[in-house]
Amino acid sequence: MSLRTLLLATTCAAIAAPALADVNVYTTRQPELIQPVMDAFTAETGIAVNLAFVDDGLVERLRAEGARSPADLVMTVDIANLKQIVDAGVIQPVESEVLTNAIPAALRSDENLWFGLTTRARIVYASNDRVAEGEVTTYEDLASGKWEGRICTRSGLHNYNLALMSAVISHAGEDAARDWAAGVQSNLARKPEGNDRAQVKAIWAGECDISLGNTYYMGKMLEDPEQTEWANSVRIVFPEFADGGTHVNVSGVAMTNAAPNRDEALQLMEFLVSPEAQSIYAELNYEYPVLEGAPVSDLVAGWGGFTPDDTSLSELAANRPTALRIMEEVNFDG
Ligand code: FE
Repeated sequence: MSLRTLLLATTCAAIAAPALADVNVYTTRQPELIQPVMDAFTAETGIAVNLAFVDDGLVERLRAEGARSPADLVMTVDIANLKQIVDAGVIQPVESEVLTNAIPAALRSDENLWFGLTTRARIVYASNDRVAEGEVTTYEDLASGKWEGRICTRSGLHNYNLALMSAVISHAGEDAARDWAAGVQSNLARKPEGNDRAQVKAIWAGECDISLGNTYYMGKMLEDPEQTEWANSVRIVFPEFADGGTHVNVSGVAMTNAAPNRDEALQLMEFLVSPEAQSIYAELNYEYPVLEGAPVSDLVAGWGGFTPDDTSLSELAANRPTALRIMEEVNFDG
């Protein structure tokens, strides 16, 4: 090959391979929970991903940056936070059959504004010593007198409990939901305080027998030497609503209005619902994949199976103001 031909070939190769833009992600999740799945995406596509950890003020930041925002995607947890970015008008709809085929309708926005990637169930942690097999069955039952002085929970005003309360409203109606909240409140062993793990610690310490918590905290407690014995003092029980289903919430992704690297960002969104990414991502935080058939970790599988409530998270978001009002009316936090 002459030098001229070689130069020509080199030039053509350079032209044929278009430069791939990076994808920029604002995440309220710990970057360690996300990095491995981004590395898998980069390995497959050659597209780099830059993660910016935004602890607070995500919406304010996106608003302030407006059309000049470098962010393409936002990753966060809980329907309350997803609803907040919808209401702020800082994200745009994404039409993708890959996403809508992979994600059950209940776990994504009706308007394709946000997409659930993993789920977590809000369940009961039950004392191994003081709660019999089969003693916990339904959410409704938590308001019955048999639990008097035996329940611990974090604040009733926390997003996790407001989403659960929103689900109770969907299943039972507002009046029954108020009675339920008052019943649970009257069964509390102590005023709501601390986070979900603090309630398991209280069970371990003998202050209460059951608590409300998200599933993944079992995995997190087992990871932490100080908390392992708290975790080992309880088991996970999946309550159902009387008419079926265990309450779940999501972690999710949305595309910003600015999205300077839209094509690459869409590729990343679609990668995140692939079987490979679903398994990695769910396993990192002991969550459940949204993609049917994607395997869960051995630890998570060991907690047993459950049927998720199929009430849409959009409906729960719509119930949130009522849920908040009820919690205040029954003076849940005392
Ligand atoms: Fe959490």
